[in-house]
Amino acid sequence: MVVARVFGKSSPEAIGRENDRLAALQQLDLLDTPRDEGFERIVRLIKQIFSIDIGIISLIDGHRQWYKACSGLSADEVSLEDTFCRCVVDCDEPIIVQDATRDARFARHPSVTGKDHIRFYAGVPLRTKAGHMIGTVCAIDRRPRSFGSRDLGILEELAAAAMDRIDLMQSAATDSLTEAMTRRAFKQEADQLISLALRHQHELSCIVFDIDHFKQVNDRYGHAAGDAVLKAVASVCKATLRAGDLFGRIGGEEFAVVLPHVDRQGALAVAEKLCAAIAFQPIHGDHGILHVTASLGSSALSIVSKDIETLLAQADAAMYQAKHGGRNRCVSWSSIHADHAIGARRRVLKAGFILFNDRRSTIDCTVKSIGAESAGISVSNTTGIPSEFILAIKGEGFETKCRVIAQDRQHLEVAFR
Ligand code: GH3
Ligand code: MG
Ligand code: MG
Repeated sequence: MVVARVFGKSSPEAIGRENDRLAALQQLDLLDTPRDEGFERIVRLIKQIFSIDIGIISLIDGHRQWYKACSGLSADEVSLEDTFCRCVVDCDEPIIVQDATRDARFARHPSVTGKDHIRFYAGVPLRTKAGHMIGTVCAIDRRPRSFGSRDLGILEELAAAAMDRIDLMQSAATDSLTEAMTRRAFKQEADQLISLALRHQHELSCIVFDIDHFKQVNDRYGHAAGDAVLKAVASVCKATLRAGDLFGRIGGEEFAVVLPHVDRQGALAVAEKLCAAIAFQPIHGDHGILHVTASLGSSALSIVSKDIETLLAQADAAMYQAKHGGRNRCVSWSSIHADHAIGARRRVLKAGFILFNDRRSTIDCTVKSIGAESAGISVSNTTGIPSEFILAIKGEGFETKCRVIAQDRQHLEVAFR
């Protein structure tokens, strides 16, 4: 079982720094955003310049290191507990490990003793212009090597280039692969449409969907085929939706729709139409003809859901039910909300703990949205987490009993008890 770290023995200054760091990361809204060729190029450069095996640009939230770009490893993210980069976060400065087997801090680390066989590590902070550390840029090798001040200077320049790209991306309105709106632009426009709907008292609804078993497409046919699937799915959705609907790519293989003037029944009908259109669409390419399906959740404007965060949280919870129910289907939030509350939500990014088993078990988590009666939480793996537990946000003295109302492999929607 994972044991909590950041706050256990931390000073108030360290907690304050961690909170500021997470607030800066939340502001950028970059976690779980799609692959981007600009960042891929930087990690390839890291490998080429230093002639090493692995290059990574990562963002670090409350419980994990998420790879914005990674070359040389197959994972998308790793629990923070298992990373060298947590030391860069804790010290807030670069770390160079020439030979991990000779470094007492890392010699027994699973990535050193296990199949990854890591020997060399150099990691520098990825820092915003305001000075907050939001992640790391790393050069990693399976052989020991030296890394002089000139090398460190180059890695820091590459980190600065990555940060410049992050800043540049803040203004991007469309995703280059699918031509859907970026998550940031989608939310901004959605909030404007919601304000209009509230002022003029017309209906508005929201759909979230996620492609089923998409990892298998990448694993079996390669990333290029995965990209072709994303393009095709986006294109069939745009053809199905009306011109006034908003369509955004809010994650790697996750999309969202806002439907002005459409009520909850109407939204479910549109979701069914999208679900069928995606499943029927043959996707041609070097891989032959592929078919994919998606799971969809829908929600609608109401007394409690009057902002895009709350609508997305409700549609997400409905989508998890659709996944749970067997995938390739649609679920409306209204069909499950009778027993469960998701009141108004505020988007946050806070490090927390899940406590259970009489507080003997502790799991690091990231609280992503929170309201008076519910929260949305991410963890490395939901397996083994019971349906009732205590959620704590340390540094804020927040602690409450929770009940799980929906979940997938890495996310939990909980109601406070
Ligand atoms: P589920 O049915 O539960 O949704 O399973 P899944 O396999 O779709 O879910 P999972 O979240 O495990 O996998 C999502 C994958 O999407 C992992 C990630 O590598 C891939 N991905 C994210 N962005 C991109 C992209 O831009 N291009 C490609 N090809 N793959 C991407
Ligand atoms: Mg997904
Ligand atoms: Mg998926």
